[in-house]
Amino acid sequence: MKIEIDGLTKHIPGTGDFISIDNNKCNNCGRCILVCLVNLWFRKDDKIYISEDYKEKCLECAACYQVCDANAIKFQYPAGGTGIIYEKG
Ligand code: SF4
Ligand code: SF4
Repeated sequence: MKIEIDGLTKHIPGTGDFISIDNNKCNNCGRCILVCLVNLWFRKDDKIYISEDYKEKCLECAACYQVCDANAIKFQYPAGGTGIIYEKG
């Protein structure tokens, strides 16, 4: 990603893929859909998917990973400086 700060172009490394689902392990319980506060999981044709734009919208709370008893979700925090930034105020 590129951002402009005071006329300078800064290159910020992307997060890479930090969440994935193994549909062979998924039992279609729907917990990931229920628990995600930003509605990034969905069911289509009886399969579970994560939204294509999850890297921009994910809160990195790991709730989906925690509730998946089937171990179908792989989650890792993005490398330092590449994920979400919380600001107060
Ligand atoms: S929580 Fe896990 S097993 Fe349940 S629907 Fe989501 S990915 Fe599948
Ligand atoms: S880590 Fe949290 S916000 Fe991101 S997809 Fe999972 S439940 Fe949703």
